[in-house]
Amino acid sequence: MSFTVAIIGRPNVGKSTLFNRLVGRREAIVHDFPGVTRDRKEGRAQLAGLEFRVIDTAGLEEADPESLAGRMSAMTLGALDQADVCLLLIDARVGLTPADEHFANVLRKQSTPVLVVANKCEGKAGEPGLLEAYSLGLGEPIGVSAEHGTGMGDLFEALQPFARTAAHDEAAAAEMDEDVFDAVDLSDDETLAADEDPDAPAVTTEEDTEKPLRLAIVGRPNTGKSTLVNALIGEERLLTGPEAGVTRDSIAVDWTFRDRKLRLIDTAGMRRKARISDSLERLSVSETLNNIRMAEVVILMLDANMVMDKQDLTIARMVVEEGRALVIGINKWDAAEDKGATMQRMRDRLQTSLPQVRGIPFITLSALKGNGLDRLMQAVLDIHKVWNTRISTAALNRWLEYTLSQHPPPLGKTKRRIKLRYMTQAKARPPTFAVSCSLPEDLPESYVRYLVNGLRDDFGMDGVPIRMHFRKPK
Ligand code: GDP
Ligand code: GDP
Repeated sequence: MSFTVAIIGRPNVGKSTLFNRLVGRREAIVHDFPGVTRDRKEGRAQLAGLEFRVIDTAGLEEADPESLAGRMSAMTLGALDQADVCLLLIDARVGLTPADEHFANVLRKQSTPVLVVANKCEGKAGEPGLLEAYSLGLGEPIGVSAEHGTGMGDLFEALQPFARTAAHDEAAAAEMDEDVFDAVDLSDDETLAADEDPDAPAVTTEEDTEKPLRLAIVGRPNTGKSTLVNALIGEERLLTGPEAGVTRDSIAVDWTFRDRKLRLIDTAGMRRKARISDSLERLSVSETLNNIRMAEVVILMLDANMVMDKQDLTIARMVVEEGRALVIGINKWDAAEDKGATMQRMRDRLQTSLPQVRGIPFITLSALKGNGLDRLMQAVLDIHKVWNTRISTAALNRWLEYTLSQHPPPLGKTKRRIKLRYMTQAKARPPTFAVSCSLPEDLPESYVRYLVNGLRDDFGMDGVPIRMHFRKPK
């Protein structure tokens, strides 16, 4: 079901770049907007099987971003009228400007739902801007890089409810309100903890078990991915083709495991494989990355008879960098030689190259013989729950106080003590925390690791990426 998305924002935030990424090579239709000379760009966008119409309002606003008067033109508002949802784009590298705030104020008064998208979020330079975007009060910002393509999975997730709304799905609409517009206000330190029910459980999960869990199976060629898919959902299903989200570039197959709905995300890889049983395929990094981005949980398949090589580690790192939950499947266990040593070697290798994520589950299996599939799928369900962890602000601040007292932060470069004052969970999926810090740029990596490891241990978040952002209190 199709819906319309308008991209709005001050000049230079990357609207056209995002438009081009969403529309891809498909031809953008350029319409004359009646009565005016400037054009409005429109195109058909595709994002992991989600199809929608996208309107780019680039060029509709004044080039001078600092003059407030008349910035949001009638044309932009016209585009907004046609949209089911609008993306308010900001530049995370620059941070919020008065122009962004002006846009946010106008949008707040409109009936069209708004998603805040912080662009240029590749690397670390965008982190402060991403957090700052919360203070627009328009809900959880989505961090993306239109240029590099990161964050498209999060954007997909945020837009998905609108596809269902377009299909007049009332239930989905209600759910969307909760999911997407649940604003996290970091601006008011004092009320953060006070807002909470003191009897609320410290750790809960935000997992929505009604939605299919999006799973990708990735790995080098010949590790047994297709065999696993066939063992899990049956050859016939894969060969007869996808049931949902059929597009030229991607497939999604839905099935259930112990009553839990799952959706297998795949771009061209496995389908092609299923058709032309050619085992001499090369690893397609871009295809792998696409699958990772669209998934929530990723199974990385390894062959027990091969050493874990650079490509395997690259994939593992991509999964973590994209904030997805990782499960390692060591396949062909039936044919493994020295089982104990193999396992130890693989664990050591992963731990040294990905020290920031402890406790990634390793599951041995034989896709061919159908052994270990239950354990594998159980690990997928378990880690998905952990990935959805939500910790109350009160519990986090008790934890922070204790953790600081055990091992206080060191002196900053200028010999001033670094103060960490309060923390809150900005989002789940993956667990992401915001900590107010007097000198964020002085905080050593080792201390960040101490905090992340502590959080992981104390709140049971083994195996999932944990993100922590430090920022100066206002
Ligand atoms: P518009 O005026 O909002 O349509 O912005 P453009 O799409 O023309 O982009 C403005 C500038 O930002 C261009 O130089 C882009 O190359 C750059 N840009 C767009 N997206 C990104 C991104 O994700 N990261 C970085 N670093 N630059 C970006
Ligand atoms: P893909 O390229 O990752 O999709 O790998 P395939 O599923 O095509 O499997 C590659 C080869 O490994 C095939 O010959 C499979 O029969 C074989 N294979 C897959 N799983 C197992 C397993 O658990 N044990 C053994 N011994 N062989 C397997």
